[in-house]
This record gives sequence, structure tokens and C-alpha cells, in this order.
Amino acid sequence: MSKLSRQLSDLSDLSASELNEAIDDTNFPHTNVTTQCGRSNNSSKIYEIIQNDGESSENDITDINNHSSLNDITETTTKIINGLINNNNNNNNSNNNIKSTLNIDTNKKPTREALLPELSSSYRLLLSGLGEDPTRQGLLKTPERAAKAMLFFTKGYDQSIEDVLNGAIFDENHDEMVVVKDIEFFSMCEHHLVPFYGRVSIGYLPCNKILGLSKLARIVEIFSRRLQVQERLSKQIAVAVTHAVQPAGVAVVIEGVHMCMVMRGVQKINSKTVTSTMLGVFRDDPKTREEFLNLVNK
Ligand SMILES: [Zn+2]
Repeated sequence: MSKLSRQLSDLSDLSASELNEAIDDTNFPHTNVTTQCGRSNNSSKIYEIIQNDGESSENDITDINNHSSLNDITETTTKIINGLINNNNNNNNSNNNIKSTLNIDTNKKPTREALLPELSSSYRLLLSGLGEDPTRQGLLKTPERAAKAMLFFTKGYDQSIEDVLNGAIFDENHDEMVVVKDIEFFSMCEHHLVPFYGRVSIGYLPCNKILGLSKLARIVEIFSRRLQVQERLSKQIAVAVTHAVQPAGVAVVIEGVHMCMVMRGVQKINSKTVTSTMLGVFRDDPKTREEFLNLVNK
């Protein structure tokens, strides 16, 4: 495995502090920016991506008057989370036992669809935990539907950056800032398991390598379709772009609406959370940063 693919494949599992270290370890060509990776003029290319998310969500609202057992719900939710995440790690002891008995290739990862039955029964428990009757007509297929929806919301665990970037990194003597703004994203807050969504703008100053434009949106998709916090999402995107094309700098700004703030807690409907990660020239040079922010806020 090349150094690049090793860096990229490790990226998904990095904690916030490890991400910070990855950022600090990144060698941006600070001093040579104006000579080797400098810009011959001040023009910048700006791109906008319109995304269509095919699937519309169902808005099933259930009245809950019965908070029977918070512990049960907590336990069930923990099971659901473990099921979603552990599939990607090597934590499937029971699965491995089954596989070795059946003599199945143990190197092959189980597909996430294989998680459906267990995830569905976890949702059934969740309904009972809420004091609902999972056997009433309206709820009969809800556990399976909810499990499928949750797998979709977290499908980023299935995708790797190296697969997406394969063949999309080009040698190019392009020295203008590349900005793709307003990339829509939908993610799941890992603290409350409710959605947060919004827009991501990414800018980078190439240093002899560029990335296929649509790949920036794919990077956003891979990291947002997981259990996330917005701060980590910004950093993962910035570090992924850095590792992919070693630019003179990367800037990521995310504007997010968090349903856990809107629907509960402070219930501020119009509040938005803005996070940013500025690396390389975007961190060191106020003019470059300002130019990026001006383009993004246009
Ligand atoms: Zn939250």
C-alpha cells in the first residue's frame, strides 16, 4: 500500500486529537508558496455543485405519552450504534465464529445489508422501550424501514477515500485557487443520533496536482454519511484533500443546522453552527483566507 493510500485509509478512524496531529504533521510548502506553488494572477475558479438527494424521507410522527424505560432505550440505541460502526472494524466475533463453521472466506467483510435483521430487532426493542406496541399495524414494518434508513444515513462507513480518489488526481500546472462552494450534506449527530445538515465550501491552492471537481463532493459524502460532530467533519475533509493532492493550503467552511438544537434543548430554529478548518496558506496568509471567505460568502 502506498503512503498516500495508507494515510487516506487511516483517516476515517482518527479521533479529533489524532486529526489535529495529522494536521500538524502535514508539510505545507509555506516558504515556497510564491515561487513553486505561487499564483501568477489573482483570478480564482469557483464552482457550484447542485446535488440531488434522490430519497425523500418519510415523516412519520408518533405520539409518545409513555416513557416506560429510559435504560432500555439507551441500551437498544447503544446496540444500534455498535452495529453500525463495528461492521467497519474487526469487532465481529460472533460473525467470525459463524463464518469459520461455515468455512466462508473470513477476509471478506460482511455487507452492511447483513446487519439488517439485528438492526431491525433493535428498532423493535426501541419501539417497545418507548411504550409503543410494535405489533400494531402502523408499526409492523417500521423497524425494518428504520434500519434501512439508518444504514443509508451512515453509508459513508462503506466507502473509502482511496476508492473514490482512484484515478481522479491529475498533474496540472494550475496555480489558481479552486473553490467548490455550497456542497449540500446530511449527517447524523453522534451525540443524539438526530440529523444535522447544511453546506460545505472547500477551497484549495494547488501545488502541481489537482483533484477531479466532483471528488470534493464525494469526499464530503463519505465523511458526512457517518455518525459525526461538525468540527471533526471539517477536519476530516481538509485532511483528506491535503493528503490527496498536497496543495499549498486547504480551507473548509461548514454551515450546519443541528436538529438536536432545533428540536430540543435551546430550540433555536434559526441558529446555524459554522465551523472552519484552515490549513497551509489559508491559515498563514490573511489575504488568501480573506479571498476564499469572500468567494464563499458571495
Ligand atoms: Zn446533537
